[in-house]
Amino acid sequence: MGLPQQQLCAWVETPGPDATIAFRDIEVPKPGPGEVLVRLEVSGVCHSDHHSIYGNTPMTTHIAGHEGVGIVVAVGSDVSDDLLHSRVGVSWLHRACGKCEICKVDYTHCPHQDNSGRNVPGTFQEYCLADAEYLFQIPAEIPAAIAAPLLCGGITMYGALVRADLRAGDFVVIPGAGGGLGHLGVQIATSMGLQVIAIDSGPDKEAICRDSGACHFFDFQKSRSSLVEEVRSVAGGIGAHAVLCITGAPSAYESALAMVRSLGKLVCVGIPPSSYRLAISPFEILVRGLRIIGSTVGNRSHMSSLMDLVLQGKVRPTVEVYPFSELPEVMKKLEHATIAGRAVLQIQK
Ligand SMILES: [Zn+2]
Ligand SMILES: [Zn+2]
Repeated sequence: MGLPQQQLCAWVETPGPDATIAFRDIEVPKPGPGEVLVRLEVSGVCHSDHHSIYGNTPMTTHIAGHEGVGIVVAVGSDVSDDLLHSRVGVSWLHRACGKCEICKVDYTHCPHQDNSGRNVPGTFQEYCLADAEYLFQIPAEIPAAIAAPLLCGGITMYGALVRADLRAGDFVVIPGAGGGLGHLGVQIATSMGLQVIAIDSGPDKEAICRDSGACHFFDFQKSRSSLVEEVRSVAGGIGAHAVLCITGAPSAYESALAMVRSLGKLVCVGIPPSSYRLAISPFEILVRGLRIIGSTVGNRSHMSSLMDLVLQGKVRPTVEVYPFSELPEVMKKLEHATIAGRAVLQIQK
């Protein structure tokens, strides 16, 4: 079957506070050396797409999206034909340099990396280019809409939990646990034997947290001033072993260190407003032996472990599937945190 010349994309005219999203036809790109062309079936919508489109984080392409699932339909000159027709996932890490000192330790933090939807056109289009080395193979048993949230939400949580270096039985607090990222984090943490203390708001978010395996749930709207004390009291009275701060809300970052016990860890994952600064007392850090860890996405080995958890039925993303044309409405829902689980766009059948 021949490939079309033109395709539909969700075009962001001027990424920033006044960004608008318009659907337009653009050319189907051709894969260069090391690249493949993927015909996308679905794409998840991540909160960081919102950050990129509306200017909280830099975006230099016009097409956002980084949780794409589809089929390889063309390969670059030096890429093996074996990849043709394979079912793959396109994620945030489009390509790392693979050569620098950082890549030798953890390529997901390569300072020279390219990212889908940041500086390389992302997955809110019918056909996208991907680097053959950084694709994930998607097992046939996992439906596309279920696989999509693993590609950023799932792998982000898996990587953050590995970097938190916790042991079975440890307490981990997840603020924002009922969202797209959060509920996957609750499931993955539970599968690792951790005791999850979920924080979110409203009955829908509580239900998804509890269904995902959370031992405790606190509604931050109801608890407000007593939230820290309530968390500490269920975590042995001295606080949790770690807080995975996956929401960018400054209030969540502010209370995180008070929720951990001595030797506890704060893992920073959620993107706060760009001007926000975390005020920390170095004295408190040294005296309590605290650690602050940054984590973006997980690596290939984390992804294969995560796929195994999905195949074993231990991780199952809750998704709401929307037609591609509803991306602007989905962005509004993300803004108001009214999606329980992950929004996934049906790009094409
Ligand atoms: Zn993401
Ligand atoms: Zn590198």
